[in-house]
Amino acid sequence: MTDGASLVHLDWAEAAELIQRSQNIAVVTHVYPDGDAIGSMMGLVLALRQHGKQATPVVDGGLPRQFAFVPGGEEILKGADGLSPDLVISTDASDLERLGKAGAALRNLDCPFIQLDHHQTNLLFGDVDLVDARTVASAEVVFDWLEQLGWTPSRDVAQALLTGIVTDTMCFRTSNVTAETLAKSQRLMSYGADLAGIVQRTLARQPFGLIRLYGQVLPRIRLDNGIIWVKVLAEDYKAVDMEIGEYNGLSGYLIQADEAMISVVFKQMSDREIEVSMRAVPGFDVSQVALELGGGGHRLASGCTLRGVDMEGAVQKVMDRLQVEIARGKPLYT
Ligand code: AMP
Ligand code: MN
Ligand code: MN
Repeated sequence: MTDGASLVHLDWAEAAELIQRSQNIAVVTHVYPDGDAIGSMMGLVLALRQHGKQATPVVDGGLPRQFAFVPGGEEILKGADGLSPDLVISTDASDLERLGKAGAALRNLDCPFIQLDHHQTNLLFGDVDLVDARTVASAEVVFDWLEQLGWTPSRDVAQALLTGIVTDTMCFRTSNVTAETLAKSQRLMSYGADLAGIVQRTLARQPFGLIRLYGQVLPRIRLDNGIIWVKVLAEDYKAVDMEIGEYNGLSGYLIQADEAMISVVFKQMSDREIEVSMRAVPGFDVSQVALELGGGGHRLASGCTLRGVDMEGAVQKVMDRLQVEIARGKPLYT
């Protein structure tokens, strides 16, 4: 792993005071939300309601089908139109842009903004920041906050929070999992979270179209100097009847190749918009490349969106920078 400390910036006291004096709270998370985005946002929304607050969840683009099981998911708004909260909280985004149009609209309101996150590349863009890159998930930071406030999670809150922890750790398999992660997860289970149900609805099952998409793109897979990579084109989605960008997980699959230190998937979102998803084995760091290119993430899992370049331009740009990291890093486990 890259030398240097994890980013920790926790304004607990200021955040608690804002919660105490607010009544109508909007909670927003990142575009193309994953299990931690939805889990951290809904865990917080449901906990706030348990404590007498009005709380409204917002995701630019709405809730992806696969997270419909998360408690309260059906109430998520697709945009911030007409909302006039007295406090806004964002979860699981390292910068404002990642919150999409809904985030930009909420940030522009005349009310305080707390941002809660666990990315090493967080830009501290809130009025109050709750960032802890030692944690495995934003849902873990939410749980830390509830414990600080002395709020006992309901079963639904626990279910949402454990969903975030389980999905961001691929069920406790990532190298950032500690005894503390397991202890907190055990507490969430004791509050009623259903681990097997979460695993079955997230990691263990995938749409058939996604498996067909793998079949579509894997013949083009490349392994160059420790970097395993593949392009996913608009016509690939079309061939398997999927929406563009409606999938994730391929970079996590590719990094399993013994010979690979870094994996990269280039997804063509439109003509000149390429989404880049990167993974690394412990000992390497893809977060700084993502940050340099306008994105962010964690040392071992990062991403960015490149605009105004075509696929070939994107591949060139990313691969050039990753060569430097390949030369710098050294695998921790051999
Ligand atoms: P993904 O490869 O999409 O699973 O994302 C891996 C990590 O990188 C996640 O923690 C994301 O928050 C982060 N990430 C992915 N795409 C972006 C982006 N366009 N901008 C900022 N962070 C991103
Ligand atoms: Mn996320
Ligand atoms: Mn996360």
